[in-house]
Amino acid sequence: MMWSELLQNNYGTPAIELVRGEGSRVWDSNGNSYLDMLGGIATNILGHAHPDISKAVADQISTLGHVSNFFSHPQVLALADNLQRLTGENSARTFFCNSGAEANEAALKLSRTTGRKKIVSTIGSFHGRTMGALSLTGQESKRAPFKPLLPNVKFIPFGDVAAMERVITKKVAMFIVEPIQGENGVVTPPAGYLKAVRKRTTETGTLLVIDAVQTGMGRTGEWFGYESEGIVPDVITLAKGLGGGLPLGAMIALGKYASAFTPGSHGSTFGGNPLACAAANASIAFIEENNLLAEVKAKGEFLKSALAQIPGISDVRGDGLLLGIVLQHPRAQEIKGALEHEGVIVNAPNDSILRIAPALNIPQAELESFVESVKKVMRND
Ligand SMILES: *Cc1c(COP(=O)(O)O)cnc(C)c1O
Repeated sequence: MMWSELLQNNYGTPAIELVRGEGSRVWDSNGNSYLDMLGGIATNILGHAHPDISKAVADQISTLGHVSNFFSHPQVLALADNLQRLTGENSARTFFCNSGAEANEAALKLSRTTGRKKIVSTIGSFHGRTMGALSLTGQESKRAPFKPLLPNVKFIPFGDVAAMERVITKKVAMFIVEPIQGENGVVTPPAGYLKAVRKRTTETGTLLVIDAVQTGMGRTGEWFGYESEGIVPDVITLAKGLGGGLPLGAMIALGKYASAFTPGSHGSTFGGNPLACAAANASIAFIEENNLLAEVKAKGEFLKSALAQIPGISDVRGDGLLLGIVLQHPRAQEIKGALEHEGVIVNAPNDSILRIAPALNIPQAELESFVESVKKVMRND
């Protein structure tokens, strides 16, 4: 069956059809195997076909697959309890949905309860593709075809403390920011940025929404990616890695705004579905039992120093296992293709950057093999 005769053209036609995965390897329909350094875009945090996730989902679907939000169930309570514990804040209250865009939509609606209408976001940010989330996204090429979007959203340079202090006033309902801009090419702010943001938003009574959709669930070696700045946000949004490969999103509100939604404020038919929650609980248990967060930091440091020595690579930025490899020449598409030919999957968010976001439990040997593949394709470059 042909993709183009069956599916919308919004992704173009993918060149590779994947049929199977195990750990950090995937196989295509021609029998070729690939080292998966992208992890379904920061999503398969424990790789493919992880036995704990498979078992949790199989047990759950044969016990209770879906209940709607008219009913409680053990998996949603266990997951909300896990997330509350990981934030370190007893005030944390979670709303579950199915994706990152929906998590940010929920944060946007929550911000309306402040009685303020103005919103501030950052240039280059990515917060999702639905009309509300797109209104928060600071990338003109994605916005332009769909205008008019929501009014009263202002974009400021990412990492610029002076601009942030100027624009965030007592009239601003929320400031939404990623700890690392993932889709924008793994762009990191200067140290102290989130601390300054927290200080200013506290002064003005503005909700600080940390979009941890990409940085969350241990990817940076911390649970959400803001912890090293020593801050506590008002809202954390999650998706991607949260469900261990199943569709799941969350909007966690802390402190005063934890109780801003009241019955009828918001909802989602599938949000907090038992299967997705079971997969998330199994992922969190595995990460904690195997102390993976410390491992993620060490793996990130290894990759940074090994890749930075390769001729043609000018910088390696990011944190833990969310890294952007900056090329001296704008040939990321070509290098991505050459790596694919070598049996390695990465992604090129723009033509100067290769992004990697592999499984947190990827073995060291696979990382070394990845570095060798990059050396080889850069030499042929
Ligand atoms: C991917 C992403 C989103 C959107 O998530 P979807 O599940 O595709 O809706 C939002 N914010 C960030 C930071 C992301 O990386």
